[in-house]
Amino acid sequence: MRQDNNRKKKIIEILEKKGEVTVKELSNFFSVSEMTIYRDVKILEKQGLIKRKHGSILLNSSDNIDEKTIKTCPICEKPITRTNPYKIVINGKKTVEACCEHCGLMLHKKYENQEVTAMTYDFITERPINVLDAYYVVGSSAVPCCSPSVISFISQDDAEKFKKGFGGKVMTFIQAYQDIIERMSLNVKDCCNSQTFKIGDL
Ligand SMILES: [Zn+2]
Ligand SMILES: [Zn+2]
Repeated sequence: MRQDNNRKKKIIEILEKKGEVTVKELSNFFSVSEMTIYRDVKILEKQGLIKRKHGSILLNSSDNIDEKTIKTCPICEKPITRTNPYKIVINGKKTVEACCEHCGLMLHKKYENQEVTAMTYDFITERPINVLDAYYVVGSSAVPCCSPSVISFISQDDAEKFKKGFGGKVMTFIQAYQDIIERMSLNVKDCCNSQTFKIGDL
């Protein structure tokens, strides 16, 4: 018990120095199993001292970007970790955000009778795009967030190139919207199985 607490204290110290670590690194450092570290991490997370992001552990301090604004996706309830989430503005007032294009499109269903504007971001440049101007690769093998994945591009050319590498279909906003709504109404259980990947590993 004593040792457990010391280890947790030490984890915080390591994080204060290093900024972020992985469970594997900690398990090597303390020579304990990853399971043991996971248990510590869970407790520290519950206490609000740390948070997990993209497989790393970070201190839960205000210096860690988007700390105060961590929101959950209204569709899949996953925390929104993307720097630039999918944004829908309803009647020029209320803004709602989704974790990715997949959930963003689903969210439009909820507001289908309202006046909305929506923005998303180019997958490559992260530049903002009006969702109506974007091209979407739907159902590719790259699944950065929810599945079937929807990835947006400013340029149709980039979308086509991406499709060559990762499959899927290039669609306009309305096509992508209809496709996702249709697929999700048929097969809800496939929703939002997240799968992380690195472009370099593909
Ligand atoms: Zn979501
Ligand atoms: Zn998502």
